[in-house]
Amino acid sequence: MSRIAYVNGRYVPHGEASIHVEDRGYQFADGVYEVCEVRGGALIDARRHLDRLDRSLGALRIAPPMSRAALLLVLRETVRRNTVRNGMVYMQVTRGVARRDHAFPPADTPASIVVTARRSDFAAQEALAATGVKVISLPENRWPRVDIKTVGLLPNVLAKQAAKEAGAREAWFVDAAGHVTEGASTNAWIVTAGGTIVTRPADAGILRGITRTVVLEEARALGYALEERPFTLAEAHAAAEAFITAASTLVMPVIAIDGQAVGDGKPGPVATRLRQRFHDFAEFSI
Ligand code: PLP
Repeated sequence: MSRIAYVNGRYVPHGEASIHVEDRGYQFADGVYEVCEVRGGALIDARRHLDRLDRSLGALRIAPPMSRAALLLVLRETVRRNTVRNGMVYMQVTRGVARRDHAFPPADTPASIVVTARRSDFAAQEALAATGVKVISLPENRWPRVDIKTVGLLPNVLAKQAAKEAGAREAWFVDAAGHVTEGASTNAWIVTAGGTIVTRPADAGILRGITRTVVLEEARALGYALEERPFTLAEAHAAAEAFITAASTLVMPVIAIDGQAVGDGKPGPVATRLRQRFHDFAEFSI
């Protein structure tokens, strides 16, 4: 089955899908993106992801390329054409194509939009969740507006590569005060020795993960003690459990930070239960 991408109004073979060299996303990372999980053919938490897309676009003053209803049609059609039952759908919107100049192009420049979908290996993800993943820590060096889901991801790319080279799956950024902000593409959580789930508040220094929002609701509903506050790397090292969240990994247990085991070095019961129950709290839209 050949893959199909949606590019500015056309469904094209993936290998031929291309964007102009003067697209502002390519030139300046002047664009935003979203990723939704696809499960059983349904889009997971699409409403929340599209709300955040609107917020990111608004923050950069990029006019949405189409209505939400039209975008949902494109997302579903891209998922359908790629016969994705379980996987991801990716959308990217940029400020469009214009003669290269840092300042915004004329207001009537249409935004560019690309949508792709791909399958994910469910069994491999579950196998990974059964063993847990390792993370490393790095100084926070991203621009402060990390609340906008922009495609300006160079620090995240370098962090992820450093994690890979260290035999880990993720890197946790640590701010000047010694607090963990978030992962290169995930939100960061710990469970204290006393059983309290802790994650940084989403008002500064992190992207408000949709998975994070749902897991907060889930944890409350399941009766866990919960604190939204910054935590230090030292606290993370002393924690009973740690985990990361994102639409692409759901709740993924962390078993080591900078080579040091978290808890007993195995996926913990809280992270495992939150993973197992996640879809009871997520929204399905078909
Ligand atoms: N933090 C960063 C920097 C991310 O890039 C992502 C997802 O790509 C997340 C957190 C998790 O967000 P979500 O749960 O909406 O996938």
